[in-house]
Amino acid sequence: MREKIQRFMMGRYGNDNLNQCLILGALVVMLLELFLHSTVLMILGYLIWGCSIYRMFSRKIDQRYQENMLYLNKTKGLRHRFSCFAKGLQDRRNRYFTCPFCAQIVRVPKGRGKIEITCPSCHRHFDRKS
Ligand SMILES: [Zn+2]
Repeated sequence: MREKIQRFMMGRYGNDNLNQCLILGALVVMLLELFLHSTVLMILGYLIWGCSIYRMFSRKIDQRYQENMLYLNKTKGLRHRFSCFAKGLQDRRNRYFTCPFCAQIVRVPKGRGKIEITCPSCHRHFDRKS
């Protein structure tokens, strides 16, 4: 069975970050549809779902790769900020800031008031309240 699936997927694009985002988006839209009972949301959810399935089984690997790279470039700042926020949730004793000059994530101890932070990557200074 595993070999059959591998043989079927040979030459096809498979899964990537954009597909994962599309599947998550389709699930969110379908969940909303459960509560709002909207036909438009149902169709939109199935369209997004279908788009992700089409991308997954597509044989145009170059085009799918370009789409994924465009998605990754457009969402770079957002994903970086979310990563900084998620680190802050996991680690309650420290705060995480993004360097305004080079976007390096910097960890500082909580509760020290207003401090001057030196970025370990670009060595420039910026002020934040910890
Ligand atoms: Zn920096």
